[in-house]
Amino acid sequence: MKAIVLPLKPKELLLLESLSKRKKLSAEENRYFLNLKKGHEGELLFTDLASKTEGDRLVLNNLLIEHNQTTFQIDCLILTETRIFLYEVKNFEGDFYLEGDKFYKKPRRELNNPLLQLNRTASLLRQLLLSLGLNTPIEANVVFTHPAFTLYQAPLDSPIIFPNQITNHLRMINNQATKLTNKSESIAAKLLQLNKTESPHQRLPSFRYEELQKGIICPACRMLSMVSGRGVCKCESCGHKESVATTVLHQVEEFQLLFPERKLTTREIYKWCGEVLSKKVIWRILSNNFKSVGEYKSRYYK
Ligand SMILES: [Zn+2]
Repeated sequence: MKAIVLPLKPKELLLLESLSKRKKLSAEENRYFLNLKKGHEGELLFTDLASKTEGDRLVLNNLLIEHNQTTFQIDCLILTETRIFLYEVKNFEGDFYLEGDKFYKKPRRELNNPLLQLNRTASLLRQLLLSLGLNTPIEANVVFTHPAFTLYQAPLDSPIIFPNQITNHLRMINNQATKLTNKSESIAAKLLQLNKTESPHQRLPSFRYEELQKGIICPACRMLSMVSGRGVCKCESCGHKESVATTVLHQVEEFQLLFPERKLTTREIYKWCGEVLSKKVIWRILSNNFKSVGEYKSRYYK
């Protein structure tokens, strides 16, 4: 059994999570954030099931591919020796219906039709594979992951997998899968090579350093409530504990994600953590984990 999975959270989601704790998002920004989060949960659920079941296949998820000046997003791909399964994953909850080419949430709010999105992605993927000299057949499906999802008026032959069909569908793939050769691996490698990480800053709400609340977000309960004790940091809200080094390194990651242009210094991280850790402790952890550049007051880390 082989499975490659990239369960990374998209950068955009990480950034929005951090911002949502450190400033007040507008109603629209918050809606966007919650939609993104819900969508990601659906993708994780499906990818997790796809990679846990037995059989010879490769699983890739969350790819952003650029080909012929067109960018397209692939939620999940399963590569088997004879076929490529492409999935558009939707974590919609509630009652929906199809009317011709249009997709509505009841009572009548039109949304982008996932079946049309799927067709576009499938066509672009097919063109890409052909340009690489591959004509492996693609089987494309929209998969709905939320247990409380209902779709009315879906034609019988719609390429749709409903929540209660996921397990059987994956079993069918594994029953048919034959041993993987280097071909599938080289397709996967090529796709990963074309996968690009878009700068997520473009679509984010605007924010300034000064307006963000400083402090340490607890990785367990997501409250800004971590304080330092003897050699450990502890959450005052849920009791989660971790080593100071782990906490500081997480804070550095978050800080650099939000402010890639700012220099990493002891003072910056001290302020970012809400001044709850000593500068000496932060200095030691930065020196142990990063390369220092410059001397004394102008020292920073890379
Ligand atoms: Zn906590």
